[in-house]
Amino acid sequence: MSEIKFLDLLKINQQHRTELIQAVTEVIDSGWFLNGDFLTKFEQEFATYTGAKYVVGVANGLDALKLIFQSYKEQGVLKDGDEVIVPAHTFIASTLAVTDNKLVPIFVEPDLASFNMDIDLIEQRITPKTKAILVVHLYGRICWSDELERLAEKYQLKIIEDNAQAVGAEWKGRKTGSLGHAAAFSFYPGKNLGALGDGGAVATADADLAQKVKAIANYGSGRKYEHLYKGINSRLDEIQAAFLSVKLKSLDAGNERRREVADRYLAGITNPLIELPTYPQAQEGQADKKGHVWHLFVIKTKNRKALQKHLAAREIQTLIHYPTPPHKQAAYPEYNHFSYPASEQIAEEVLSLPISQVIEVNDIEEIIEAVNQFQIITNGPN
Ligand SMILES: *Cc1c(COP(=O)(O)O)cnc(C)c1O
Repeated sequence: MSEIKFLDLLKINQQHRTELIQAVTEVIDSGWFLNGDFLTKFEQEFATYTGAKYVVGVANGLDALKLIFQSYKEQGVLKDGDEVIVPAHTFIASTLAVTDNKLVPIFVEPDLASFNMDIDLIEQRITPKTKAILVVHLYGRICWSDELERLAEKYQLKIIEDNAQAVGAEWKGRKTGSLGHAAAFSFYPGKNLGALGDGGAVATADADLAQKVKAIANYGSGRKYEHLYKGINSRLDEIQAAFLSVKLKSLDAGNERRREVADRYLAGITNPLIELPTYPQAQEGQADKKGHVWHLFVIKTKNRKALQKHLAAREIQTLIHYPTPPHKQAAYPEYNHFSYPASEQIAEEVLSLPISQVIEVNDIEEIIEAVNQFQIITNGPN
């Protein structure tokens, strides 16, 4: 019995070994490494895939988010001190993009069952200063609804999607990344569409925003040595773009395989100490399978420490996403006194089980059995 890895990146990329080597060879032989044909090709393919009008490749997901906010500031849509609705339960990149741009995050509690921002709690947090909503499709599950669109319309808010985790997920036939006014993607190796290094992209239907993102990512320059903005250097290089073109072709198959793994877990785990994640609902009682791409399979338990130890003893790797919400991080002393009980409860109870497009059925069965065998041994009465 060998260890079951949380994520087997070696195996994931071995599947594409021949094509990846072919791709890197083509880039080497082109003699051109930045802002070339491989980037343009991937941007076009990714735009077609997501249904977004424009895609701009950038260096990573955090930059993609930051560039969206900075570009809205250059457009005059946002200004210093404006408020942005953000989920209280998310990876810190979401909030860093807001605060780095001198915008104020207004935290909204998650729904305990979906882990996503509770859309019904947004309206009460809107003030005259609120200008945008940053939605995060956390763990691969869509965070979207008609109500969200109604709020954006009513209060004239921009909706920005942090789509680092849900590439390929759909809402009513529309893909994440094309639902809001702008979207940020991460191609960090462990994401559902992973590069072999860092990578990211911005998607939008707003031509002016796309142009600004591209310019700001290029030292604020649209034309050589003319600098319109105080920009940064944030590029998706040719090698990563070529790799991503290879891997994009099997993204849907990989996501479908993740759903099969999730379905096995959902059917097999019966331990009453464990609370399972869910698919979004299309209608009452009907799972919307396209609405989840299972970037992570996150269970909840009041006995997390013991469960993680129990699984580790059986050589099953697990991780916690995330142990501390952004408002409780040392990086944000100004928010540490805030209390968001739902997000804090989630941070204490979640545990991520192994899931990927390459995990073996025997491994899943072994994990299910181990989770079902977990019990709390009490010392009994004295
Ligand atoms: C991974 C991730 C990011 C950041 O992406 P990087 O490419 O690592 O910069 C942002 N938001 C969320 C929710 C993520 O999971």
